[in-house]
Amino acid sequence: MKRAMPAALLPLLLLIACEREYAPTHTLVAITFDDCHESIYTHAMPLMEPYGFCATNFVNSGFIGLPHKLTWDMTEALEFNHGWETGGHTVHHINMPDCDSLTVDTEVRIDQLALIGHGLSHTSFALPCGHAGGRDMDIVLSYYRNVRTSKADFLYRPLDRTRIGYKGYRIQYSADDMIDWLSDGILAGADLLVVGVHTVMTDEEMAEEGNGVYKMNCAPQDFARLMAWIARQELQTVTISQAAERLTD
Ligand SMILES: [Zn+2]
Repeated sequence: MKRAMPAALLPLLLLIACEREYAPTHTLVAITFDDCHESIYTHAMPLMEPYGFCATNFVNSGFIGLPHKLTWDMTEALEFNHGWETGGHTVHHINMPDCDSLTVDTEVRIDQLALIGHGLSHTSFALPCGHAGGRDMDIVLSYYRNVRTSKADFLYRPLDRTRIGYKGYRIQYSADDMIDWLSDGILAGADLLVVGVHTVMTDEEMAEEGNGVYKMNCAPQDFARLMAWIARQELQTVTISQAAERLTD
């Protein structure tokens, strides 16, 4: 059966026409994924691959291989076949300020050793839930050079590689919310904008997993639209390590 294509396409065309366009700009974009959900491999990567986009994949080594999580094969493929960076996020996603020093040290160190054991990159770390006291930062920085926080800052050269903020995608957003934030950052002359994503799942998939709604989920159609917008602006994507190397003096 034939569909009325012009009517179906009109809202999309209007949407594209209304979006702000910025090419060319010097602003770099780093896409980061946290918490090693399998949808990073099954849904997000295939939507990035056509554009050649890279990302940094912050994993909890203790969760890899569990149901609905990345496997080590997937994690290795993202880095070795798709040019992504892998980073640490503690073994069990601990809330560091709630733990004693020995636990924090062990969680950070054992997690990094797992990355090393799989031949993966291990110079960038994301604070679990963005939480860290001064003691926790000292421990993290004894193992890692780059630290991603959860503060939605526009970032400028010279970059403080120990406090790289990000804008985390939340389930109540649409792609437009992230596009607006990126647009504001570009207009503010930011040198680096970091986009954070956790899961890329449909409502049906979230229901099937039975864990309720993921408050940081990005629906696949929104993720696809965000990637297409980044591509249209000709924004260059970089890993956190690449950003740190390029933007620190
Ligand atoms: Zn996390």
